[in-house]
Amino acid sequence: MSAILKVADGQVIVMEYTLRVEGEIIDASTDHGPIEFIQSVGNIIPGLEQALYGMTVGESKEVVVTAGDGYGEMDSLAYMEVPRDQFPEDIPMETGTQIELHNEAGQPMVARIDQVGETSVRLDFNHPLAGKELHFAIKIAGLRPATEQELDHGHVHSGHEH
Ligand code: ZN
Repeated sequence: MSAILKVADGQVIVMEYTLRVEGEIIDASTDHGPIEFIQSVGNIIPGLEQALYGMTVGESKEVVVTAGDGYGEMDSLAYMEVPRDQFPEDIPMETGTQIELHNEAGQPMVARIDQVGETSVRLDFNHPLAGKELHFAIKIAGLRPATEQELDHGHVHSGHEH
């Protein structure tokens, strides 16, 4: 086995990265360690996944991902007006405050306060990075084939089974 492992479908990738949006670093693996994911199962945004094919361990790359291939465009319908008195008192009524709530099916959703009015609050359900062009500096730090169980589950098992 002397073949050099390259990024391909079903590989577990360990990746170091820095993400810049509008020139500002908003996330970096130096803060929390590299991320591990399975290529081709949608663990990461499609624009980044596409750029990784064929890369080898130790290789670095700059990748620009458009909003459409990243966290999506801003959806003008993803806003909701909620009466102010429906919010618990301990939630700061400020633009940008993140709020967790549940939809009618009981699934958790995250929204941000977009506007605070006299009697109502406008919530924004767009992803915080929707509509943004993403500038990644990435480095492949590790590569291995995913196990059958990992492919079955659609996520990486690093030391813990579930
Ligand atoms: Zn699992």
